[in-house]
Amino acid sequence: MLNKQHIINRFLSYVKIDTESDPKSNTTPSTKKQWDLANKLVEELKAIGMSNVSIDENAYIMATLPSNVEHEVPTIGFISHIDTSPDFTGANVNPQIVENYSGEDIILNTEKNIILSPSYFEDLLLYKGETLITTDGTTLLGADDKAGVCEIVSAMEYLIQHPEIKHGTIKVAFTPDEEIGRGAHKFDVDKFGADWAYTMDGSQVGELEYENFNAAEAEVTFKGRIVHPGYAKGKMINSMYYASEYINTLPKLEVPEHTEGYQGFFHLHDIHGNVEKTVLEYIIRDHDKDKFKARKALMQKVANDMNTKYNQDIISIEVKDQYYNMKEKVTPVMHVVDIAEEAMKQLGITPLIKPIRGGTDGSQLSYMGLPCPNIFAGGHNFHGRYEYVPVESMLKATKVICKIVELTQERYN
Ligand SMILES: [Zn+2]
Repeated sequence: MLNKQHIINRFLSYVKIDTESDPKSNTTPSTKKQWDLANKLVEELKAIGMSNVSIDENAYIMATLPSNVEHEVPTIGFISHIDTSPDFTGANVNPQIVENYSGEDIILNTEKNIILSPSYFEDLLLYKGETLITTDGTTLLGADDKAGVCEIVSAMEYLIQHPEIKHGTIKVAFTPDEEIGRGAHKFDVDKFGADWAYTMDGSQVGELEYENFNAAEAEVTFKGRIVHPGYAKGKMINSMYYASEYINTLPKLEVPEHTEGYQGFFHLHDIHGNVEKTVLEYIIRDHDKDKFKARKALMQKVANDMNTKYNQDIISIEVKDQYYNMKEKVTPVMHVVDIAEEAMKQLGITPLIKPIRGGTDGSQLSYMGLPCPNIFAGGHNFHGRYEYVPVESMLKATKVICKIVELTQERYN
């Protein structure tokens, strides 16, 4: 049996270390403090008996659990990230433990009247009777993704202590800077040497994800002409009005607030401008590759049409791809998903397979040659003060890891 208190203690030891990443930094890791947890993990992996524990100059940690069978089994990996989101502070995390959760409001902070309530966060009711770890209302918790780190370390420890569970070679990796989109950037896929892997970075129990958005960003620039407003007739060109026309020409309902599931969107997330120059910053998202291309083409077409209409080059547009749907790389090796699904079913966990409306490190890794679906790590309400994780969910994720390695071995026996 996995020891619940042992997992709680391990998780608490991680979240108390501040590892917030910083998008403005150009170094890797983006913040020096990520080394504090990275160095601790290296020691811990050695202490539990992992082999080839390494950390590189960018704080990417890798370790191996050698095979304990004679026959050939594919090498599989488990990955999570050590940083926390810069959206909310991760300094001085003071976790609260709620045992035998009653289903009622949880007072996170009496002084500041901060309450975690199932009337806003209905998911809480899934965990009645369980042990929840919450914040004290002033920081995020860091279950994203220290729950994942904790589950991977705990699963490896369990497998080492239980050699009767047969498995092939297992690799684990912990990366910095996932929250600022760089977790996969300096990941050495060849050194890792796995045939496929899973990120332990999802939310609710049962989540299993292998489809994500195709993603691009677009910057649309409008040129105007400033003239004294009193003498502007026929001379002034106000770039802000052109920007407004552009915004209103794109499909109005294809925006984040009107879409869900497999529906893609255009998201205008920033405008800055004056008469002379206005810049619109968009992100473009779609699961479907052709629709994704069509969206990028439409943004270009609206710009071209307006340039034609006004008979001058007032609009320029720059579109950059960010990441792609991993589905294309995972469906040819669908057993990777099937094994994880079967592992959950055997443990009595209902798999929740759904498209991610975002990206994961796994989507980049999949395009770098390492197919890499995402599995639940158990936390909820990531990146803010209402973040919490049920300990039972961490135990389940740990068991899923152990079951996946077992099933993979059996499949190739
Ligand atoms: Zn995460």
